[in-house]
Amino acid sequence: ATSTEKYEGICRHDIVVGNILGEGFFGEVHDGIYTSPTGDKICVAIKTCKDCSADVKEKFLSEADLMKNLDHPNIVRLIGVIEVDPVWIVMELYEHGELGNYLVKQQYNLTTATLILYCVQICKALAYLEGLNMVHRDIAVRNVLVASPKCVKLGDFGLSRYIDEQEYYKASVSRLPIKWMAPESINFRRFTTASDVWMFGVCIWEIFSMAQQPFFWLENGQVINQLESGVRLHKPQLCPPTIYSLLTRCWAYEPHGRPSFSQLFCLLGDIHRMELEQEQC
Ligand code: ATP
Repeated sequence: ATSTEKYEGICRHDIVVGNILGEGFFGEVHDGIYTSPTGDKICVAIKTCKDCSADVKEKFLSEADLMKNLDHPNIVRLIGVIEVDPVWIVMELYEHGELGNYLVKQQYNLTTATLILYCVQICKALAYLEGLNMVHRDIAVRNVLVASPKCVKLGDFGLSRYIDEQEYYKASVSRLPIKWMAPESINFRRFTTASDVWMFGVCIWEIFSMAQQPFFWLENGQVINQLESGVRLHKPQLCPPTIYSLLTRCWAYEPHGRPSFSQLFCLLGDIHRMELEQEQC
């Protein structure tokens, strides 16, 4: 079945809307329960769009359009879309919420091996996107959801784009996460898989810093000068040196100098296995 056929079945009457989970860019996000055609009850998150003009609606639904083509255990799962007003994007619900908040709440209960596991899982999702020539452009702990204490899912495809080989996406929007961005993204709005690798490095830094903001001591406008004079985020106390040495490679000034996600996945997997062995001793 094509992706559109796969999502045909969803109907508003099969959804019971619950409480507000938070405020998204386009409107409120609610939790709810969806009853599938086979009678299964699924906990869902429902994204709504408060401005129903045609162009806003199109932007809102573009995230769901991208997600329709994705199927990965570490990527937020789309359940369906309701394309008539009021438009809804319905996703699987992850009750533990955003990884950033979860890290703050659980900081004294998380082992180094678990933190590395989160890195491995996010990397696996990104290696999958790399294979599809898709750039995410907003990799940060605020955009990762916690499905269970041992499983995280990459979400928020609102800024994602497909790119052709050798091509890049030239961004025009102004809501850009400067402190997570690679130098070429800040300077020329150039976004590629290599700039996603840089951002993933910053996301790992956030994980081992228990969700501190990267460069919180700088203004957005100061970041590029610092990066160009060779300054990088320091090693968080909890970050193993083996992981930090990968981060410094993700933060090579030249995009070509950075590893790929498939390489990072192998390296992180090895580090994770070693850490598990050590923790079991
Ligand atoms: P922004 O672009 O500002 O990040 P957004 O439109 O992408 O906003 P989200 O940040 O994804 O919206 O969602 C808003 C709130 O809803 C967040 O607090 C997020 O944790 C929560 N949320 C979104 N999707 C889910 C989900 N599948 N499961 C649990 N919570 C979710």
